[in-house]
Amino acid sequence: MIEVKNLSKQFVVKSGLLGQEEYVHAVNGVSFSIGDQETLGLVGESGSGKSTTGRLILRLLEPTSGKILLEGKDISTISDRDFRKLRKELQIVFQNPYSALDYKMTVEDILMQPLQIHKIVPPLEYKKEVHRLLHMVGLDHASARKFPHEFSGGQRQRIGIARALATKPRFIVCDEPVSALDVSVQSQILNLTMDLQKELGISYLFIAHDLHVIKHVSDRVAVMYLGKIVEMGDAEGIFENPMHPYTKALLAAVPGQGEEAQIKRRRLKGEIPSAIRMPSGCSFHTRCPFAMDICRNEIPILKEYKDRMVSCHLVDKEGV
Ligand code: SF4
Ligand code: MG
Repeated sequence: MIEVKNLSKQFVVKSGLLGQEEYVHAVNGVSFSIGDQETLGLVGESGSGKSTTGRLILRLLEPTSGKILLEGKDISTISDRDFRKLRKELQIVFQNPYSALDYKMTVEDILMQPLQIHKIVPPLEYKKEVHRLLHMVGLDHASARKFPHEFSGGQRQRIGIARALATKPRFIVCDEPVSALDVSVQSQILNLTMDLQKELGISYLFIAHDLHVIKHVSDRVAVMYLGKIVEMGDAEGIFENPMHPYTKALLAAVPGQGEEAQIKRRRLKGEIPSAIRMPSGCSFHTRCPFAMDICRNEIPILKEYKDRMVSCHLVDKEGV
């Protein structure tokens, strides 16, 4: 369905007193594929390049290098005009349901917009289609005449999902779709996205920093750190037997209640380093409890081990 090959994105920023140009290495040679009706969970701390990766695939940002293939066809080099025809196949659900919807528009207008732009149904059928979309995301017909502020956060995210579904996409980037919502509402929205996947056969790139969320929805998982994938494999395997020290640290840091969880959470020390001055060698070496000399000097390569891909000198040395 979607294949990403060696995708990179650098941003130029001016910094320092002289305003010299520096590069932010937001995404650094990322490769993965997502099959039909499959969910790839993309997890990592904020600043790891997850959202940038999602935006690159949708061409909301232009890659510095690399390829994006949609069913074998390279969509990173086609013209904007040709891409516009494919645009409806690829959609996004944003993190913040409060700012993602225009507060001056009724829900009906919000949902009609993509129907008009992409000529999904004839104008006479707009109303019927809006009702069908609302029904799909569990909202009643009366919602069509209301404004976004009249809904709760969870309901607004349902509207955001309905808007993404309006063009009948085959692939949706879900960029932290539940992280702004109350925990009690999160699982309802996650279950909705999974039900819709079964019903409509959509593939997802599901971006989240919360491992509970990733575990709930993903078939496969890719763990990102400073713009690179450090571990990737079946969700079950990753959660049962994480191999990369960063994945282990993330799993140990899963928030929970009680003192034990608090102690565990502290294990991942320090902040994610700047993507401007990338650490030498393994980018995780500044925080890794297992860092060796080689880690400071040599960049580990993402290699295959049994059921997954890992980039770590320690795993390389000790094997599985
Ligand atoms: Fe830690 Fe070295 Fe592995 Fe990087 S390569 S994760 S620093 S052990
Ligand atoms: Mg993000």
